[in-house]
Amino acid sequence: MKLTFLVPVLLIVISIVPSPTSAHFFPNISSIPPSLIPNATIWDAFNKFAGCQKGVKADGLSKLKKYFQLFGYINNSYDNFSDDFDEYLESAVRNYQLNFNLNATGELDAPTLKHIVMPRCGNADIVNGTSTMRSGNPSNTYSANSTIHAVAHYSFFPDRPRWPRGRNQLTYAFQPENQLSDAVRGVFSRAFERWSEVTPLTFTETTSFSRADLRIGFFSGDHGDGEPFDGVLGTLAHAFAPPVGRFHLDGEENWVIDGDFMGSSPMSAIDLESVAVHEIGHLLGLGHSSVEDAIMYPTISSGTRKVELANDDVMGIQELYGSNPNYNGSDPTLTPRGERDMSGAPRFDCSLRCGVLLAVGLFSVLLFV
Ligand SMILES: [Zn+2]
Ligand SMILES: [Zn+2]
Repeated sequence: MKLTFLVPVLLIVISIVPSPTSAHFFPNISSIPPSLIPNATIWDAFNKFAGCQKGVKADGLSKLKKYFQLFGYINNSYDNFSDDFDEYLESAVRNYQLNFNLNATGELDAPTLKHIVMPRCGNADIVNGTSTMRSGNPSNTYSANSTIHAVAHYSFFPDRPRWPRGRNQLTYAFQPENQLSDAVRGVFSRAFERWSEVTPLTFTETTSFSRADLRIGFFSGDHGDGEPFDGVLGTLAHAFAPPVGRFHLDGEENWVIDGDFMGSSPMSAIDLESVAVHEIGHLLGLGHSSVEDAIMYPTISSGTRKVELANDDVMGIQELYGSNPNYNGSDPTLTPRGERDMSGAPRFDCSLRCGVLLAVGLFSVLLFV
């Protein structure tokens, strides 16, 4: 009798305990087997909606509505998941376009769809109806004659949660079942360092997962927090605001450890450190930013490495925690673009450009002589 009672209870317990996955890690892009590179990802189907606007009906638009609801562009109470392009979808598209610095047409034009299908962070861009990406704070708006002339676009979670004052030494731990290698743990250590360089915060790895402030784990699909992962690309990871401290990554991504894409843009390779730096921003209290160079921008292409904090990120995190006394205040956004570690794409930097121009000039002079 007792046993028959225990079996269903055990089954229920097993089904609600998140099951960490053994994630796919690759030392570099050439080690990813072709069988793990998909021909298309779940959001690629949205490309067929090119040119769609309010009033039309198109097969599958309901899925796009769900996409926009997932990231906060359609209210959670909305439940008309028909394939009609209604005013709610139009408003969602327009707000999305504003957040991503696109023409706010409310129509699914090519530049908008290009952004929509990109891999991205699972955290919403709009929380409780308030866009977190356009929080240009007037006090952080710089005059045109200042060396810094950008409007700040960093944002916080509602009510600006942060780790308590006087508790600057945070610990982090990895889900033990993931059994991560030293190389993978080293990637996270470097990612934490980027934030400790500019704040008074320090981050120390601990083996006590249950007692750590920040808990990192790789999972597949539904893992018990209502935000299931979706396989290769789509959403890559998500992280919760302070003081929750949970940071989850999609174990089915092709995570690249060394961040060297050798100038190629592989279909599905995601740089682990780039995503880690972004999600740690959430763990500390930052929301998304509409500044494309910022670490807190929500999307990242396959084969892209973006690990340096931009000025927008630094301003945001320092508003929450203050500066590291040893931080020299150098503005990362003023680093020449050619030297910034932003992308695996081949770079045609200034020195090369100047060299070509000089050669063309000399050749023209010779012709006239
Ligand atoms: Zn995010
Ligand atoms: Zn999760």
